[in-house]
Amino acid sequence: MEAALQSPNYILEFTYIVASILFIWGLKSLSHPDTARKGMFLAEAGMAAAVIGTLFHRDIHFFGWIIAGLILGSMVGAAFAVWVPMTAMPQRTALSHAFGAIAAALVGIAEFVMHSGTMSTFTRSALGLEVMLGTLTTTGSLIACGKLQGVIRGTPMQFKGQQFVNMLIFLSMVGCFAYSLHNPAATPFFYGMVTLGFVFGVMLVIPIGSADMPVVMSLLNSYAGLSSAATGFVLGNNILIIAGTLDGFSGFILSILMCKAMNRSITNVLFGGFGAVHAKAAAGAGGEMHEISLEDAAVRLAYASKVVFVPGYGLATAQAQHAVRELADILEERGVTVKYGIHPVAGRMPGHMNVLLAEANVPYGDLYEMEQINPEFPTTDVALVVGANDVVNPDARDNSDSPIAGMPILEVDRAKSVIVLKRGQGRGFSGLENPLFFKSVTSMLYGDAKASLSRLAQEVKNV
Ligand code: NAP
Repeated sequence: MEAALQSPNYILEFTYIVASILFIWGLKSLSHPDTARKGMFLAEAGMAAAVIGTLFHRDIHFFGWIIAGLILGSMVGAAFAVWVPMTAMPQRTALSHAFGAIAAALVGIAEFVMHSGTMSTFTRSALGLEVMLGTLTTTGSLIACGKLQGVIRGTPMQFKGQQFVNMLIFLSMVGCFAYSLHNPAATPFFYGMVTLGFVFGVMLVIPIGSADMPVVMSLLNSYAGLSSAATGFVLGNNILIIAGTLDGFSGFILSILMCKAMNRSITNVLFGGFGAVHAKAAAGAGGEMHEISLEDAAVRLAYASKVVFVPGYGLATAQAQHAVRELADILEERGVTVKYGIHPVAGRMPGHMNVLLAEANVPYGDLYEMEQINPEFPTTDVALVVGANDVVNPDARDNSDSPIAGMPILEVDRAKSVIVLKRGQGRGFSGLENPLFFKSVTSMLYGDAKASLSRLAQEVKNV
């Protein structure tokens, strides 16, 4: 009996190796739109393998709570999958981070209560890290979710001396951690660290505007991953270490890539208060916007040689991906060359446009990244902007005083003509006015993007 307990648990170790391979393979597949869907399935299979493998853990003697957790968790997950729309995916992801982080923090607290007296200093350090990252990620993610959902004010909440207060909270939290590391019996310091972790998460995220929330979430995702990796060290669980590290570092790399695409530094995102720019006016805006009729827009498209579609967040809200494809097919049948210009932060998530267009079976070869398509605009007859705003705002290029100055944009204003599909005079996510809409080269076709595209497709057929 003793020997059986000491022998390696082959089933568990084997499923963990399989799960690790599936996670790494899934992550690799996610790096290309063509294979992204497969990547999701691989990662899901990896998670299933990890969960099933864990059920063979020798320390599990009673399955009642586990089954209850599985049922409850699956019900919440399924409800999210069915009812949360694509456009609300960022806040839904923030909630998932909060769930993951609170789970890691609770495991850490439970381990502290049960074993703190017998733990090595290394394990206690990992436990402290796990609980600090877990607690601050929990409240930080909940605030991010609230801001994105509009439940909490999206603009930065700032006050004088805020960074000093934040630093004080942070140092106090680390101080409690250091003290309880050397004095495991000093439980008030441990719980002081837990409380300060929750407070720090709130303080970290409230000064950041909702325009920067996707970057913040990607960072919080990274913290949640690192917290899980630390949990792995506490529990001696390899799959948590591997999955947590993958999650932690891929989240961090993603944050850097998003910042690069917006020409911002991470410190600027965390301490700059981007949302505070809402009130500033854009140079070059003003004058009149020129409206175009459906018939004129259809004629312009039908007789063009080259049309570049530029999708943005409005395409996602309108769920217009199939309508875009339909119009593109009709134009191509007429001999028009159709391409899609994809900005890296169009929409609300990295890869948002690629995923939507892939859903409508737009051939991947027709999608062009910003660097590839920008040189083509001067030879483009019509740039058709579908619910995009910030990512085509020429102020980022022309106005050094603009809050988005330096953000790379799709230079549609260099095309021979521009048609913008949007519902009205609403602003983009940054809240800035867009001088593109006032340029003589630009015409506005108002209406819901899906309805406008379907009507355009019908009209082009009649030309
Ligand atoms: P955007 O600047 O948010 O503009 C979207 C436009 O779509 C709005 O001006 C809106 O105008 C229009 N619209 C909304 N619903 C519509 C509908 N049903 N039909 C037609 N038009 C509709 O979008 P974007 O150009 O894609 O820029 C993305 C923004 O998100 C950038 O500021 C980017 O920095 C930020 N962001 C993205 C990511 C990411 O990972 N993708 C990360 C961080 C930040 P109307 O109200 O007048 O219709």
